Amino acid sequence: MTDRLRSAPMPAALRAGRPPRHPALAVRCPHCSAAVDMRCTTRAGRTRVQRLIPCEARLDAHAAVLAVIATAVCPTCQVAPGTECRTDDGRPLRDIHPARRTEAGGTAA
Ligand SMILES: [Zn+2]
Ligand SMILES: [Zn+2]
Repeated sequence: MTDRLRSAPMPAALRAGRPPRHPALAVRCPHCSAAVDMRCTTRAGRTRVQRLIPCEARLDAHAAVLAVIATAVCPTCQVAPGTECRTDDGRPLRDIHPARRTEAGGTAA
């Protein structure tokens, strides 16, 4: 018991093999090219080290996605502003359809 307390504290979720997912992991990182659901990495010598906090660029990209979700109707899955895109079978896409991105960026206000 005490031995365990003295060793580095490890969150229960991490021990279970599923670290809590940062919301920004829903988008691919434009900075370090981490894929969706993969943590950002940073170069440390010859190895790649996982970062707990996503890169700035990824946070920005995620914020941009949220902005698109908040403002644009999706032409592909027809969800209303404020609603996340859905797949054909009604499950959350956890990303936005490309057409929605275009819709948000291409509309002349
Ligand atoms: Zn990154
Ligand atoms: Zn959609």
